[in-house]
Amino acid sequence: MTRRQWLGLLSSLGLSSLSSRAAQAAPADTKTALPRIEPLLLTNAQWRQRLTPAQYDVLREEGTERPGSSPLNTEKRKGTYHCAGCGLALFASSTKYDSGTGWPSFFDTLPSAVQTKRDFHLVLPRTEYHCARCGGHHGHIFNDGPKPTGLRYCNNGVALKFVPEAA
Ligand SMILES: [Zn+2]
Repeated sequence: MTRRQWLGLLSSLGLSSLSSRAAQAAPADTKTALPRIEPLLLTNAQWRQRLTPAQYDVLREEGTERPGSSPLNTEKRKGTYHCAGCGLALFASSTKYDSGTGWPSFFDTLPSAVQTKRDFHLVLPRTEYHCARCGGHHGHIFNDGPKPTGLRYCNNGVALKFVPEAA
């Protein structure tokens, strides 16, 4: 089949119009207010090199750290909480609060920092959330948080890196 025949086949299937629509949509992305987050895709072997075993268990295998085990539970300084997998800023310290659960808790994330999915690990559906850049699992969202969101982002401390605000 020649290239011309191939293109003719694609257009008869409606595929060429699809790809031209995608091409038109691309420039609009750069005009949106939110930063476009480039995905970080690594193999499991690369993640194992990059992360500690405890970080790997949470971020790549959706493990849960022991409650009360994270030093970040008592972190009260101003600053930003970043993904330990890729460094993306996920939470501002102004949204952190003491939920009494033994896990660092936040009532909101930074804009477009996390994505969610439903999981059924405890039979009842829960909303899992993960880093928008590397897909690393961070925790679950519950509806018992404080105002203004009423949400609790229950985060594994080992999956976070705290960066204090410069004095
Ligand atoms: Zn990440």
